[in-house]
Amino acid sequence: MRLPPLAVIIRALYTFSKFSRPRAYQRPSKNPTLKSMPSFPLFGSLFSSSASASKMSHPDERTPDEWRAVLSKEQFRILREKGTEPAGSGKYDKHLPSEGVYTCAGCNAPLYKANHKFKSGCGWPAYFDSIPGAVTRHEDNTWGMARTEIVCSNCGGHLGHVFKGEGFPTPTDERHCVNSISLNFSPEDKPGQTNDKPESKA
Ligand SMILES: [Zn+2]
Repeated sequence: MRLPPLAVIIRALYTFSKFSRPRAYQRPSKNPTLKSMPSFPLFGSLFSSSASASKMSHPDERTPDEWRAVLSKEQFRILREKGTEPAGSGKYDKHLPSEGVYTCAGCNAPLYKANHKFKSGCGWPAYFDSIPGAVTRHEDNTWGMARTEIVCSNCGGHLGHVFKGEGFPTPTDERHCVNSISLNFSPEDKPGQTNDKPESKA
């Protein structure tokens, strides 16, 4: 027999590859679940995005304690800590008035008009547009998704996210997906309500 047995060849190859492999690849993973995640940097952005958002300045700047004093626990969790209410749970999900205005539940700034609202079937109030300047967008890369967060321009309160190009038959093909908890509704659509209060503290 001129060739060595197959087992010998395999063992030789295995031994060779074991010692020639770069050291970094041999290190056993301490946390195998992290390895299987599609986007590792999301953990970094989880904190960086909230950090950058909290550095944003808004006309209505209150401390967390000041917000706690005026908001319910659930309002605080969603508006100030960027939470999300469960789908289908909000009081404005299926609310489709013919007129009126939706205001920020934190600072009362008018955000959306009744005629911006449409039926999306997604489980949260949906608007195809906002009152000009009332809503500010931020890139949000938490949870491994590239989304656009929307906040109240006056107080920075978290409203939800905006999605584009979903094919809804609206003038903008955008869906502002907003937590009901972040909103109040006023049936009166007063003229002059479309701007932020000029006397808000700096
Ligand atoms: Zn606000």
